[in-house]
Amino acid sequence: MAERLAIHNGAVVAWIDGAHRVLPCATVLVEGNAIAYVGEGRAEADREIDAAGHLVIPGLINLHSHATDTAFTRGFLEESAGPKDYANLYRVLPAVRHAIDASDACIGARLMFIEMLLAGTTTVVEMGYDQELAGSSGIENARDVVEIAVGLGLRCYTAPRYRRGYWRGDGSGGVGYFDYPDAGRARMEACVAFCEAVNGTHGDRLRAMLAPGQVDTCDAEMLAETRRIASASGLPIQLHAGQSPSEFRRVRDAHGMTTIRWLDRAGLLGRDFLIGHGMFLAETNDVGAIPSEELALLARSGSTIVHLPWVKMRQGTLMNSYAKFRRAGVNVALGTDTHPVDMIHEMRVAAIGCKLAEQSQQATSAMEALELATVNGARALGRDDLGRIASGCKADLVLVDLRRPRAAGYEDPIKYLVYNADGGDVDTVLVDGEVVVRDRKPLRADVAQAVVRLTEAKARVRANVVL
Ligand SMILES: [Zn+2]
Repeated sequence: MAERLAIHNGAVVAWIDGAHRVLPCATVLVEGNAIAYVGEGRAEADREIDAAGHLVIPGLINLHSHATDTAFTRGFLEESAGPKDYANLYRVLPAVRHAIDASDACIGARLMFIEMLLAGTTTVVEMGYDQELAGSSGIENARDVVEIAVGLGLRCYTAPRYRRGYWRGDGSGGVGYFDYPDAGRARMEACVAFCEAVNGTHGDRLRAMLAPGQVDTCDAEMLAETRRIASASGLPIQLHAGQSPSEFRRVRDAHGMTTIRWLDRAGLLGRDFLIGHGMFLAETNDVGAIPSEELALLARSGSTIVHLPWVKMRQGTLMNSYAKFRRAGVNVALGTDTHPVDMIHEMRVAAIGCKLAEQSQQATSAMEALELATVNGARALGRDDLGRIASGCKADLVLVDLRRPRAAGYEDPIKYLVYNADGGDVDTVLVDGEVVVRDRKPLRADVAQAVVRLTEAKARVRANVVL
């Protein structure tokens, strides 16, 4: 019989009748890698964790990250350009990525995955390199990176990207598009073969996702083939779309239709389809500017918008608003894209950004923000065993310390979590019932060594960046 672990005395965010509800003092019983019981009684077990003074929440789901370069783009992206020309995206980001080699990528990814775990992320979608990056574009880099993620204890969806060509700034504030010699075919085939080979391995802690790079760097054939492979294999798809106004215009000029219509024409929309960013699915950041029939199309299809509020807010732009998607019936979930890789922070900026955009305190709630990072993310992955604390679900659990001065006298722990806490309040993390962070320390990582290696690699990369 599987080992039984009881987590006693915590305030538990339990999934009851289709909603997160806080049980002020409850037990979560874990058997093997699954939750066997959640409720107010005590339970006999082989081991116990006393969670008094803690909020027990579902492990957080980061649906969109680029772990291999984030440690290196820190310091380059924050104040490099205003929102108008999106030089960040088309000039700075490719330049930094070109300066990173395969070894640096692993060093950076290790530190990012450690940071994610420490801040309560238990499931991450890692969207790997595009073809021309890092000097060595082989799929073995993706393999090395996911080995690091699962080695640290994370649940990981690997999503190595492929595309027909790439972009870069054209030197006059515009964007230039360039095809790869084989139009990206070899890379696509390598990515698909890799995804099919690794999906479900590592005790099912590793899964895979198809990732055609961006809506404006893939052609119709590549997108249609992606859909065929996804439908045959059961692998979900994530594509970057709605990143900038120039991308929207590019799609409209090239195909004579809006981005959503183009994605629909390619057959991509569906319950297994995730749109990373989704901010400029019209020419502006106003979701209200998207025709209602197109919003209905997204909603009916069950597609997910992966909202990445902080990276765009840092550039001075704000989606107006994620709640408009939500009210139209579109599933919205959350990712960090760059840094910090702290999903509690990301929930907060999602909530605050929405209130600012709509100029209303009521535009969204702390509970809705928590749903973005839990059940909505799980829905996007087609996983009803993640993102919630209920019997039968995976035991991916996070204990948030409520014994901080700022938590004194809190009434609603969800509001406390979203409006006051941050990733530094996480002190214990379990994935598949295994404790992978205890007392704010990752149990499978040498943090000091990871920091030293990153610091050395960062100096190397910085010296090689040509802007
Ligand atoms: Zn991205």
